[in-house]
Amino acid sequence: MLYGALEAGGTKMVCATGNEYGQILEQTSIPTTTPEETMPKVIEFFADKELDAMGIACFGPVDVRENSATYGNILFTPKIAWRNFPMVKTMKEGLKNIPVGFDTDVNGSLLGEVTWGAAKGLTDAVYFTIGTGIGMGAISGGNLVHGMLHPEVGHIKMSILEGDNFAGICPNHGACFEGMACGPALEKRCGKPAKDLAKDDPVWEIEAGYIAQAITSVIFTLSPQKIILGGGVIGQKQLFPLIRNKTLENINGYIDTKELRNISNYIVPAALNGNQGIMGAVKLAEMALA
Ligand code: ADP
Ligand code: ZN
Repeated sequence: MLYGALEAGGTKMVCATGNEYGQILEQTSIPTTTPEETMPKVIEFFADKELDAMGIACFGPVDVRENSATYGNILFTPKIAWRNFPMVKTMKEGLKNIPVGFDTDVNGSLLGEVTWGAAKGLTDAVYFTIGTGIGMGAISGGNLVHGMLHPEVGHIKMSILEGDNFAGICPNHGACFEGMACGPALEKRCGKPAKDLAKDDPVWEIEAGYIAQAITSVIFTLSPQKIILGGGVIGQKQLFPLIRNKTLENINGYIDTKELRNISNYIVPAALNGNQGIMGAVKLAEMALA
């Protein structure tokens, strides 16, 4: 089988072909500007490839409810040109109506990791991206979680850490998880880009504190067997021991599992070297065909 895979991001569209073994055969990247400019280039990449199916992991919020009138659309995104853009419809029309699988970018990355990476074979796992925004994908009992729309763990309320007087940057909530801990929040808080901060800057303790708070809530609600962290900010590897310790402190002995006893194998970085999103999109294509 030959699958098309699109990782649709706010800054770029990663387009690839791949197969059922998760091998990426050909790949290119197209800047995300406006649908009118970007989408014809995306379709051109795929059009002559005789694909069996297409998978799309898309920035959101998106409509992933299959029985919805607006299924496959991008919804109320801050990227105004893309609001209400019919992603699935546009791709289907451009690609002779082949089966198209569609999910959130974070569910795509999680699916890649569950199929070929850090959560291989597990039925219950979550994937956080901590970058320009914060999002989380979840698989529960073997199914990608959508529910009413899809989870928006980036916007859960945070308990403000003692002594922290940063107000947060989320336009809707101020000090939600994303408002306190995304890359641009770190930049606003520290006055320079997150990637330029020293490895031993005290801000990483604060960052880990908020990430651990969100992780603790997710452990108590979804009970994942593995927690995978990705996104630009997670490039700061010194965060891992801080996050793991703070998560255990938050749990405070209330649950005791073999996973928590081996926490360095429980809260882990993505294993697919930045390809988790595009590989997940390949898997979405395969699932659309089934
Ligand atoms: P996006 O979320 O837009 O898909 P990324 O996951 O790369 O893209 O996240 C970009 C954000 O991550 C920016 O705010 C940037 O400052 C931050 N970032 C990128 N690399 C690093 C790094 N090595 N350390 C800390 N922050 C980083
Ligand atoms: Zn928010």
